[in-house]
Amino acid sequence: MYKITVIPGDGIGEEVTQSVIQMVDSLNLPIEWEIVSAGLNTYNNTGELLPESALNSIETNKIVLKGPITTPIGYGFKSINVTLRTKYNLYANIRPVKNLGVIDSKYKNIDLVIFRENTEDLYAGIEEKISDNECHSLKIITKSATLKIAHEAFKYAQSMNKTKVTVVTKANIMKLTDGLFLNTVREVALDYPNIELEELLIDNMCMQLVLNPSRYQIILTSNLYGDILSDLCAGLIGGLGLVPSANIGKDIALFEAVHGSALDIAGANKANPTALALSAAMMLDYIGENLAAKKLKNALNEVLCYEDNFTYDLGGNLSTSDFTQKVIETIQTL
Ligand code: ATP
Ligand code: MG
Repeated sequence: MYKITVIPGDGIGEEVTQSVIQMVDSLNLPIEWEIVSAGLNTYNNTGELLPESALNSIETNKIVLKGPITTPIGYGFKSINVTLRTKYNLYANIRPVKNLGVIDSKYKNIDLVIFRENTEDLYAGIEEKISDNECHSLKIITKSATLKIAHEAFKYAQSMNKTKVTVVTKANIMKLTDGLFLNTVREVALDYPNIELEELLIDNMCMQLVLNPSRYQIILTSNLYGDILSDLCAGLIGGLGLVPSANIGKDIALFEAVHGSALDIAGANKANPTALALSAAMMLDYIGENLAAKKLKNALNEVLCYEDNFTYDLGGNLSTSDFTQKVIETIQTL
């Protein structure tokens, strides 16, 4: 029996987590869901953003499926997403980007995975107001955190028979911080002699991804660049509603969509649950239910082979709940 913590979160979170729970339930696995609340809604109702009950559930079950949580822009509390990643040292953020079904996209044959360091860099949140005219933010890079994400990327490359890892920095300008990241990755690469290490600067990487994304297999980078490149890559395959992610630590793992809470369509039964469903598939792989993970991915891919099944973000008008039913019906045929 697996017990999994679910945080529905804000905005479209409730709808997409309900949808994905139904999809996974239709795979008939011994899973018990423990639904706990956290986020802006929870704060508005209870005065707490991340209640003790949510933390206890995460620490006991160690596996979390999480919906998006709204983070106010430019004021207010520190992002709950970032808080969870740092609190539980979820050092690896893994984001696979792959074409799905017949979704219209600028490019075909995109099949890459972003390995984003998840605990430091400018995301450390160490900011200081010097005066009304000046604010500072500290960029933290450590060798220990870089070693972890780098090994994660190379180990994955090896297990998936990939031939190349592309490390992305701005080490020509930030010679100390990005320099440390790059030099540490070079050191790790020596342990994996059959995998090529390619080095690109972030600005060039943006251009190369727009010109020819199928050249890339694994992108290894620090926190902020990884965040930005993920959205860029999501755009290449047809949008934010499609990209899943895993946040992996030593003993806790949290799975969530790359997209945010999309308040503009919340409660309208219009959200695309694919990104969270693919995140759930990563979760099933993580707990060793590889066959079920494959079924779920195949079902999503198959459903997305018909434009009639597209949700609003893909230019269609199938509702979240009808999309969910299509996926469940397709799972039954596999
Ligand atoms: P947050 O502040 O939490 O990041 P956001 O409104 O910026 O929330 P994003 O997820 O970053 O939301 O997405 C930007 C836009 O993309 C949304 O406003 C929404 O229109 C669209 N979008 C994102 N995810 C989905 C989805 N799963 N289904 C449909 N549309 C989506
Ligand atoms: Mg956003």
